Amino acid sequence: MSDIIKLLPDNVANQIAAGEVVQRPASAVKELLENAIDAGGTRIDLIVKDAGKTLIQVVDNGSGMTETDARMCFERHATSKISTSADIFAIRTKGFRGEALASIAAIAQVELQSKTHDSDLGTSIIIEGSEIKEQEVVACASGTKFTVKNLFFNVPARRNFLKSDNVELRHIVNEFERVTLTHPDIHFTFHHNGNELFNLPSTTLRQRIIGAFGKRMNERLVPIEQETPVVNISGYVIKPENAKRTRGEQFFFVNNRFIKSTYLNHAVKAAYKDLIAKDQYPTYFIYLEVAPDFIDINIHPTKTEIKFEDERTVYAILNSAIKNSLGKYNIAPSLDFEQNVTFDISMPKPGQEIKMPTISIDENYNPFKSKSVSGGGGTSSSFKMPKAVSFEEDEVSANLDFLDVIKESTINVKDADIFTESETLEQNWNEETKVETKQKFYQLHNKYILTQVRSGLLIIDQQRAHQRILFEQFLSKIEERKIETQRLLFPLQIELNASDFALIQDVLEDMNNVGFDIAVFGQNTIVINGLPIGVSESKAEQIIERLLEELKHSTNQTAANYQQKMAMFMANSASIKSGRKMEEEEMEHLFNELFACQSPDYSPSGKPVIIKMEEDELDQRFERRK
Ligand code: ADP
Ligand code: MG
Repeated sequence: MSDIIKLLPDNVANQIAAGEVVQRPASAVKELLENAIDAGGTRIDLIVKDAGKTLIQVVDNGSGMTETDARMCFERHATSKISTSADIFAIRTKGFRGEALASIAAIAQVELQSKTHDSDLGTSIIIEGSEIKEQEVVACASGTKFTVKNLFFNVPARRNFLKSDNVELRHIVNEFERVTLTHPDIHFTFHHNGNELFNLPSTTLRQRIIGAFGKRMNERLVPIEQETPVVNISGYVIKPENAKRTRGEQFFFVNNRFIKSTYLNHAVKAAYKDLIAKDQYPTYFIYLEVAPDFIDINIHPTKTEIKFEDERTVYAILNSAIKNSLGKYNIAPSLDFEQNVTFDISMPKPGQEIKMPTISIDENYNPFKSKSVSGGGGTSSSFKMPKAVSFEEDEVSANLDFLDVIKESTINVKDADIFTESETLEQNWNEETKVETKQKFYQLHNKYILTQVRSGLLIIDQQRAHQRILFEQFLSKIEERKIETQRLLFPLQIELNASDFALIQDVLEDMNNVGFDIAVFGQNTIVINGLPIGVSESKAEQIIERLLEELKHSTNQTAANYQQKMAMFMANSASIKSGRKMEEEEMEHLFNELFACQSPDYSPSGKPVIIKMEEDELDQRFERRK
């Protein structure tokens, strides 16, 4: 048999390597941005068309390349960043493998223009599928411009494998965010299909985070800082009450390189233990600095996974650094998260007057009296008193307003089974004891409602019960398109980050169909003119944020599912919360409403609402014989 092994031609080898390095447009974006940073650019522009499928362009004002380097950079294993194997353990640049450009050039049509600062003329090269098509001397700006057209033009399988523009764009935004978060000193811009998505001037890290993720980040961030011989930690974590329901913005950077680490993520989550619910995720922007020889970043071609020499120590230090910061910012470790308590811990601005927090209470207000009797409104009274902790006032007012709504829409539940059951029970009870004339409701820990039914004791979770009631009411109104819009006196502007802005435009119509009145208001900003009745203004932003998060992570976006989600958000936000004292009348009302629901047993998110303790069980526990 003759010899059969041969060396692969370069273009084939490059194409194979490209399979690892360039999985989608976002990977090319990442590599080009990183090269621009390594070249010392102070301004980097990213221009993308069709989510990078047809065009990715990165322009920098960095060092530029000589004619020879411009030609060399497309060779495999061609790099200016390391030269000996020892260098691999002292890496301070983003790149070092010398693979990216060779890979990109193997699977796209690439144009390069580059000029060093000390030469008058630059070089222009066109390369397609690893083949140089054209090279000439040109007049151009100092720095480098890479234009990548028709990615995967010669790998149809890859091209067909790409997701929708929306998804691919989101990947690019993610990469862009990661890169911009490591270099707040660099001015970045990002245009997609002619629209400016980001314009992030050179600034501090905190301002960069706010620039990329929206102004609302400002009051949510808690700085972390820890210097040890092993690792220096800095960055920001989120206040527990701003934790999200979905894994959103979570960033680890090691020596200014974005990495993924489930292990370190666990260290963060553990620091939030007891501070956030199990199904919530803290946002974080955490920067670890270690000696380069302490880590191995070479274990993955995309360099997003690294190995620490002593991972456990890093885990422990990180965990305690976060606990420390959360502690320092006075975020007590034993909050009851169903209580929805918000602390305002932002620092007053210089010269800002410090006001005592106030709460308005209409002492005469009774949600069960008709409007004419109570004199209307829930919180319109001017009665004010100082308080220590600022409970979400609007929450309370929303609830009160809402009870009004409920009252108006009260369904006659006399015929409902449960009602008959308890009535019958009352009769029996009366006969037995001759004391009770009416069903009693008792509130436990301002959280549970206890009441008796024929066969035993019912324990009802007040918050979940109310969620269930509101959920069904909202859902049926949404389905019947009957949900009314309450116009806001002062329209609310919300600034979103670019990808959220793109996302919300897709669902604006649906939202407006369920009672919102939202319009686009210029660059990355929407304006809320009206809200579905029952949603308090203070909750509007939160609802929109959570909806966006859901949209980002959900694959099932059918109309029905969407309506359910909306109803759920609205119900959860407007419901009575645990921790609120309830009058007996209110409890009775809630009880009746609950058992008029189609599925009283479970909250909209599937958690139990009612626990029943049978009389038999009680008897048994008291060791009573029948
Ligand atoms: P690596 O970044 O791992 O070195 P690349 O294939 O990404 O490998 O780039 C190869 C080389 O091309 C780099 O080492 C650098 O010298 C040069 N280069 C790439 N992009 C730029 C740029 N924007 N400005 C200046 N030089 C660049
Ligand atoms: Mg590179």
